[in-house]
Amino acid sequence: MISIEKATEIVLTNKVNLPIEKVNLAEAIGRQLREDLFADRDFPPFDRVSMDGIAVRFADFEKGQRAFEIIAVQAAGSSQKTCDKSGVCMEVMTGAILPKGLDAVIRYEDILIENSITTITVETIKNGQNIHRKGTDRKATDLLISKGQFISAAEIGVAATIGKVTLEVTKLPKIAIISTGDELVKVSETPALHQIRTSNVLTVQALLKQYGIAASLHHINDNEAETTLKLGELLNENDVLILSGGVSKGKFDYVPKALEILNVTKLFHKVKQRPGKPFWFGKTKNNKMVFALPGNPVSTFMCANRYFLPWLRASMNLSPFENKFAVLDTDFSFKPNLQYFLQVKISYAENGQILAKPISGKGSGDLANLTDADGFLELPANKTDFKKGDVYRLISYR
Ligand code: AMP
Ligand code: MG
Repeated sequence: MISIEKATEIVLTNKVNLPIEKVNLAEAIGRQLREDLFADRDFPPFDRVSMDGIAVRFADFEKGQRAFEIIAVQAAGSSQKTCDKSGVCMEVMTGAILPKGLDAVIRYEDILIENSITTITVETIKNGQNIHRKGTDRKATDLLISKGQFISAAEIGVAATIGKVTLEVTKLPKIAIISTGDELVKVSETPALHQIRTSNVLTVQALLKQYGIAASLHHINDNEAETTLKLGELLNENDVLILSGGVSKGKFDYVPKALEILNVTKLFHKVKQRPGKPFWFGKTKNNKMVFALPGNPVSTFMCANRYFLPWLRASMNLSPFENKFAVLDTDFSFKPNLQYFLQVKISYAENGQILAKPISGKGSGDLANLTDADGFLELPANKTDFKKGDVYRLISYR
């Protein structure tokens, strides 16, 4: 049995290097960019009018002229007009190209218009005002986004404006989530008294969906030959297997044995923790990962959040989760020499501190309790009495 620190280190040092794939722009959200993006033209690409109003020659205004005849309208989306005489103006709209020959834009709020004559009502204007000059944001060929960047909605907009229909991103791992156990029936079925609906695989699938991964779901009965056969097939077809159940000491817990038969190298089995003690982790020679999580729903959920997601983020080259800490808000004791992942409800103190209130539930089978709590407070193995006011690491899942 190993410590949670050691287990964490082993999991994270076994992150995988995922290859590059090309995806449609709209599907690139949440992924890691694997190509540099350059400006295809100046930003903005032309002298852009940035206010609705009129455009004049600044020199005319400087000479004292305040009333101007409107000779044309320059709308956004129409090609550039030319004003080749002085003393007149054009109406211009935000987003339009600035008409040739004009160099100051005065907004509607600062003018009066009557019978095609506009009168400026402000005392001063500046040369070049309300014009977003060509190339002032970025120049053509400038590096806009470096490879490695996480793609948020902001990056999607920049990629769109330079005409990227597809983007090179880090490929998502192909993941199979597998439930084990003769007692399990599908969500759509009505269980007999001795049966339960499978919930763990749906929970893990939902966690993965947040990363854009559509994992496949599978089920294996408590049978050694079937376990070995199906796990063998799934290892061939996937990069990662996440199992739930069948890794403890029960008579029908065949997962470790089957993985051994399949030559999956065990990196650890059993972690000094509650819940989730029987957690099994290993990999194949060609770097396919197996996270075999204990079947109790709270164990599966905790291990998926505490070990699998950080591994996934590291493998996807996303930034690690921020370390969060919370203040225990009542005394709590836990005797076994195991790290205890205490289910807690979060609130905030006036000074901004995170307060963690224990919602201990009825143990690792109590999945309803997960909806009352917001996270797990990590109470270290080497202590038994935890005092109100003590600060511990927090994994929050909301
Ligand atoms: P195991 O780890 O196989 O010994 O299972 C421990 C407990 O978790 C048992 O009560 C199982 O019925 C339950 N369990 C196992 N797999 C699932 C699952 N997919 N969904 C919900 N509960 C499960
Ligand atoms: Mg089982």
